[in-house]
Amino acid sequence: MTLPELPPASLRLTIDRDALAGNWRTLNQLSGSAQAGAAVKANAYGLGAASVAAVLAGAGCSRFYVAHWQEVTSLLGQVEPSTIVVLHGPSTAAEAAFARGAGVRPVINTLRQAQLWIEAGGGTCDLMVDTGINRIGLPMDALGDPAVAALEIDVLHSHLAAADEATPLNMLQLQRWNAARQVVQHRRASLANSAGIMLGADYHGNLTRPGLALYGGVPCAALSPHIRQVVTPQAALLQVRDITAGEGVGYNATFVAPQSMRIGVVSLGYADGYLRVWSGKGMLRSMGRALPVIGRVSMDMTIVDLTAAPELAEGDWLDVDYALPEAAAASSLSQYELLTLLGLRFAR
Ligand SMILES: *Cc1c(COP(=O)(O)O)cnc(C)c1O
Repeated sequence: MTLPELPPASLRLTIDRDALAGNWRTLNQLSGSAQAGAAVKANAYGLGAASVAAVLAGAGCSRFYVAHWQEVTSLLGQVEPSTIVVLHGPSTAAEAAFARGAGVRPVINTLRQAQLWIEAGGGTCDLMVDTGINRIGLPMDALGDPAVAALEIDVLHSHLAAADEATPLNMLQLQRWNAARQVVQHRRASLANSAGIMLGADYHGNLTRPGLALYGGVPCAALSPHIRQVVTPQAALLQVRDITAGEGVGYNATFVAPQSMRIGVVSLGYADGYLRVWSGKGMLRSMGRALPVIGRVSMDMTIVDLTAAPELAEGDWLDVDYALPEAAAASSLSQYELLTLLGLRFAR
């Protein structure tokens, strides 16, 4: 027996492709003479890596950064293998062999990774130098190691710890990155993430690596006028009901109706990444009309006050307020978390 075609999902992420492509073009322009790539790790911050990469490639992007080797598969078929860069680098011989076989670019982060890469046969690679984040990357004092000299390095990368803040750490990292560029043979250099692009031309090098701002995130005020919202979650109404004064709504009846009112139950819950922090706080909309979340968000459902849109019926779609800077301020989740939380039940 063949399964009938699945009906459309009751939950979808609308992705404004024009805004996505526009944000990349803007960030590419703001990068001056440097070329912007795109961080598409974690399924393009939850938006869907394959479709995002296709849109960005169409806009002119030619470097796509993922974290894990497993993430390469979603991009193959969308973009040239040689444009895919794997940030975690080869930690095993199997990963080094995969990079060579698939023709994707590894970032070397440790001396051990350098050795593994050379033992696997080597070839062009990128290098990540740690200039102060103390996360992943080769320490400055390892740059003179013969294993580094043996590498064929295209892009010398470093990563800023606090580009979204005015802190002396940015200048210190810039100085160390420039020092590394004097010591290590390489063709091109890259330092800036989204916020780093706004720190000025000194931080641009030859390539920049925006992520968040492509997807509508605004990590620093200077980017605010340039970035358009990309993602709007939408959910369908499962049920509409009228309740009377004194009735409780949802688990533990944290909302009690002050008068008789019409409420709606939508197909969206914390299992979808719409966390309980939105209980009694989030906002959904129908044609702009505000429908506040009432009571607790549960695993698969959220309840809204339909007072402003009483004609809505089962099956109607609602928009979720999800402008990232505002949603982050309201929820105390980061803009990065707000995006990457969005679950697999959303049709993308
Ligand atoms: C995730 C990541 C980026 C993108 O950072 P945003 O703040 O999202 O712009 C750039 N470079 C590296 C190494 C990253 O891991």
